[in-house]
Amino acid sequence: MKMSCSSPSTSEIKSKLLAHITQALQADGGRLLILAKPLARRAQVYTYGLQPQTTTPIEKNSVWQDILYTEATNDRASNLPDPIDRIAERQLLKPLFAAFGNVGIESLLILPLRSDRQCIGCLTLFRSAPIPPQAARWTDEELKLAQSLAAELYLAVMAQRVAQMCGNRAYYDVLTGLPNRLLFSQLLTLELAKIPGDSEVLATIFLGLDRFKNINDGISYRFGDRLLQLIAERLKNTLDDRAIVGRWGGDEFAILIPALADRAAVNIIADRVLQCFDLPFMFDRNFANLKTNSLYIKSSMGIAIATSRGQDSQTLLKHADAALDRAKHNGRNNYEIYSTPTYHLTPVGATSVAEHRLQLEHMLDSVCAGLAGRAIDDRQLLLHYQPQIDIHTGKISGIEALLRCQDLYAKLINPADFIPIAEETGSILPMGEWVIRTACKQKKSWQDRGFGNFPIAVNFSVKQLQDRHLIETIIEILAETGLAPAALEVEITESIAIKDLDLAIAILESLREIGVKISLDDFGTGYSSLAILKYLPLDRLKIDRSFIRELHANTVDAGIVRTIVNLGHELNLKVVAEGVETVEQLEFLRSINCDTVQGFLFSRPLPAAELETTIAKGSYWQHPSSHPYN
Ligand code: C2E
Ligand code: MG
Ligand code: MG
Repeated sequence: MKMSCSSPSTSEIKSKLLAHITQALQADGGRLLILAKPLARRAQVYTYGLQPQTTTPIEKNSVWQDILYTEATNDRASNLPDPIDRIAERQLLKPLFAAFGNVGIESLLILPLRSDRQCIGCLTLFRSAPIPPQAARWTDEELKLAQSLAAELYLAVMAQRVAQMCGNRAYYDVLTGLPNRLLFSQLLTLELAKIPGDSEVLATIFLGLDRFKNINDGISYRFGDRLLQLIAERLKNTLDDRAIVGRWGGDEFAILIPALADRAAVNIIADRVLQCFDLPFMFDRNFANLKTNSLYIKSSMGIAIATSRGQDSQTLLKHADAALDRAKHNGRNNYEIYSTPTYHLTPVGATSVAEHRLQLEHMLDSVCAGLAGRAIDDRQLLLHYQPQIDIHTGKISGIEALLRCQDLYAKLINPADFIPIAEETGSILPMGEWVIRTACKQKKSWQDRGFGNFPIAVNFSVKQLQDRHLIETIIEILAETGLAPAALEVEITESIAIKDLDLAIAILESLREIGVKISLDDFGTGYSSLAILKYLPLDRLKIDRSFIRELHANTVDAGIVRTIVNLGHELNLKVVAEGVETVEQLEFLRSINCDTVQGFLFSRPLPAAELETTIAKGSYWQHPSSHPYN
């Protein structure tokens, strides 16, 4: 029996279906419970043939409730359903014994209608006492048929529900007209239930806009809204009709792409989506009172792939979300496909974001308790160092210290995950001090052992900039370690400086007076870059790695990078390119006269001891045209 998913099924159709199913399975009676959907009417029960004599629906009994509300395990989905024979012997069915016995019902088959976690109802079939009594009540073929009929029923009911939701404005985002979270999740659940086995994959994409907050805060919310509409439009035009684009909320979109041939197809689509942000978004110049009528915005995406039917939609969404976090952390304007996480806090359990955050907070607390007593456990907080290379000589011209936190299982946690929390909880201050002190000590030790004459750079958070004792602390640490001020460099990001420009100017000027070097990190990503350059006392500009990443493919980014280099030189600043990963990027940067490069091409951030052999060699290449690994 084939059921149509497209024709809207009425109560009548459901009753007829139930009759067909009951007969096809040679049962004497059947019941179909359809649970209430979100925001909707009450549950419905359809009956056919022989029924137990009860006043309340049997589905209220704990046997049914367990089936409806206990999460399905994977093996239950693949195994055959378990019929309940000899009802009289079942303790839990005792209250119903008479109700079944009086009409001669002897055996039950209960089939939940579910694909993943979401159970939408239940089909129950009854058989009266068979003759002879010892014969099997249900054959394996019958059980298999029952199972696939229940799966078809699930699909039909879900399709009908989703079709109804699609026609209801309550399930659409008012601003963009895209399906909202609720509808998107249901569409995903339905598509997941339809994956035809191993031959197709389905991709769920979470797309976040890079630095959208700058637009909302820096221009206006009205403008931000307009931009979201343009982006929604562009996403829809970029993808074909089978793809579903939804608005997840804020600056996040969710995209569902069913029926892809394989994983490679996922990459092709993800590239296409990323590239659709290469062109600027156009709007009426008067609209936001801007000097231009176009604006670039980039996006980051997290992707989760489902390859088998009935995978749980909530887990898939969670994975896409986690992948988006990683994509953002890995430099934005890119995408990550979910795979088992590298930074796990605990080997078992601990999956929810809230739980994860709590663990981090707890750990930061314990780290900072150590800091207060000056007895910081080096196994918990540590610095990795990444060299910066003079592009013309191939020699190390600086080293950036990057903070790492280690959990109890010795897994490293990246700053993007714990620094925002440390900022909120205030533990960033003792941590920041620890960073400066440790980096200065390390630098002094390298200096004493004759490892070159380059400064060591530390990153500053906004809270540190607001700390009234910052300058004193730095003077104290320099005195304590015996390091010359010019050997220390402070990196602050544009977004931090712009938060309180007056304060940033005052602090940086004091630092400059002491002799500490200052560089502007992640340059090009903030909103008021040029104003900042005018007012801040700076030594170096670090071009954000999102521009470097796209150099090969994106002439706009190449233009921006060239312009930043020229601008920096015009202002007597040295320019550093971050995130250099390929020889092509290096060659381009060399051709436009960029001064310094930093990135995985030369070295990942490493523990001091591991970096020392490289520092000892002094240079990465002998001649500008030779390979950088020499
Ligand atoms: P940042 O200062 O811009 O640091 C550069 C980041 O780029 C580092 O990430 C580094 O590992 C990464 N990176 C370097 N080369 C490449 C490359 O070739 N390709 C790619 N994809 N990435 C590369 P990390 O260590 O995860 O740090 C992230 C951010 O956390 C830093 O960005 C900085 O803003 C912040 N941070 C790090 N340490 C500290 C600290 O001690 N205090 C404060 N307040 N912030 C810190
Ligand atoms: Mg930095
Ligand atoms: Mg940076």
